[in-house]
Amino acid sequence: KRVGYALVGLGHLTLEELLPAFGECKKSKPVALVSGSPEKLKKVAAQYGIKPESCYSYQDYEKLKDNPEVQAIYIVLPNSLHAEYVIRGAKTGKHILCEKPMANSARECELMIDACKKANVKLMVAYRIQYEPYNRQVRDMVRDEKFGKPKYIEAQNSQSSANPDHWRHKKALAGGGALPDIGLYCLNTSRFVLGTEPTEVFGYMHSTPGNPLFKEVEEMMSWQMRFPDGVIVNCVTHYNTHDSRFYRVNAERGWLHLDNAYAYQGQHLQTSHAEGKAKMQNQITIPTKNQFAAEMDHFSECILEDKQPHTPGEEGLQDHRIMEAIYQSAREGRPVKLTAVKGVDAFR
Ligand code: NAD
Repeated sequence: KRVGYALVGLGHLTLEELLPAFGECKKSKPVALVSGSPEKLKKVAAQYGIKPESCYSYQDYEKLKDNPEVQAIYIVLPNSLHAEYVIRGAKTGKHILCEKPMANSARECELMIDACKKANVKLMVAYRIQYEPYNRQVRDMVRDEKFGKPKYIEAQNSQSSANPDHWRHKKALAGGGALPDIGLYCLNTSRFVLGTEPTEVFGYMHSTPGNPLFKEVEEMMSWQMRFPDGVIVNCVTHYNTHDSRFYRVNAERGWLHLDNAYAYQGQHLQTSHAEGKAKMQNQITIPTKNQFAAEMDHFSECILEDKQPHTPGEEGLQDHRIMEAIYQSAREGRPVKLTAVKGVDAFR
């Protein structure tokens, strides 16, 4: 049995990654589309065998309620629209999978969580990395203390962007720049790998004056997170450098280095550890999986078996709280403490 999905927004991610990934799913299938473009709806529906009557405009979004083939809605719109479409979507009684970043603020995340609770529907944030086999392997090795206790993590997610007119460069639509778009991977994956929550952050932000790309959103954020037991996570995210997507977990007796960590594919895991007086270097190879397919099938399984998703709305809310503290720190030039939030460990 497969869960039927309505995809909302036919942009780059939906067309190039999600729709093709359904081909590798075992529990999920696309059954409806929502878009502002009738031409795109017609073309994409024909390509994926979706019925013309299951294609909707944004104005007709609520009509999904009456489509019995749809059990889940996947929100793949610009960030500022996530809150509105999750809240409206919850009222149709369908379960909701929402792209990252979950919203533009922690307050919006709270409203989204409340709306889904009230409607008694599941809410999951599409943190694909938490379903990707190499990142899961690192998580297992770190939490099993394979090389002793983790002490610090270096994480980097950078790329270059060129179009100042894209919504990613408009504060109102994107919420911020490099941090919520790609830096979020460093933040969320560190929390995932360590299985603990940061207690303090310190941020440094920069945008090159006069560059139209960074008139509204930050070009770069460099930040440090202090985790329990003195574990430190150092992160950099940049919108104006060559692609660089890795993290290294440094533990007492060895390290794990995941290159291409946040990419759609091509993860490369190396380790180094001490064995007696010798230093061993290894490359670990494990079977790969399409991470979008793994993520969608996880949500489908939660729907079919009535389980709590591994990355529920609360996971997105926690990231937004931390990002707000990082921005505050960068603005004020001082570390900002994070208060423990009751219940945040409940889904780990
Ligand atoms: P995109 O610009 O390619 O697509 C966005 C779609 O939204 C377009 O079809 C556009 O027409 C539509 N849209 C509707 N209302 C709009 C409005 N008011 N302004 C602009 N566009 C509007 O973007 P994308 O790269 O597909 O990103 C969509 C979402 O997916 C974002 O939240 C992004 O962060 C997320 N994303 C996640 C990943 C991932 O790896 N998980 C990768 C890329 C994007």
